[in-house]
Amino acid sequence: MRCAHWRRLPLDLAREARGKSASGCVDSAVQCQLSAHESGEHYGFIDDPEYGTAWWLRWCGTEVGLVVLPDCPVVGPGPDGEGCCLFADHAEQHTWEEARPVEEAPCIS
Ligand SMILES: [Zn+2]
Ligand SMILES: [Zn+2]
Repeated sequence: MRCAHWRRLPLDLAREARGKSASGCVDSAVQCQLSAHESGEHYGFIDDPEYGTAWWLRWCGTEVGLVVLPDCPVVGPGPDGEGCCLFADHAEQHTWEEARPVEEAPCIS
């Protein structure tokens, strides 16, 4: 089960992200990409301007900020191991550990 928390980007962060984004197109609200969790920080995917890293909106209560994190290097088992769409050292499951509807996983890497 995917975490159901959404967060609207604060205007200043949205502007900053759009200014740096290659496409100039950034969602105004993001859903936490982690598996359902009770506590801790939520992480919503923003963009991946460079190979190997991505921007994430991190929030916890009223705290919210933009962070750049390296991609999670762990791939699924098997010869065609599926890559994980999260960031290195994330909490909860890797994205390939749970079945997700394709339209809900905007994974580009
Ligand atoms: Zn969450
Ligand atoms: Zn992972």
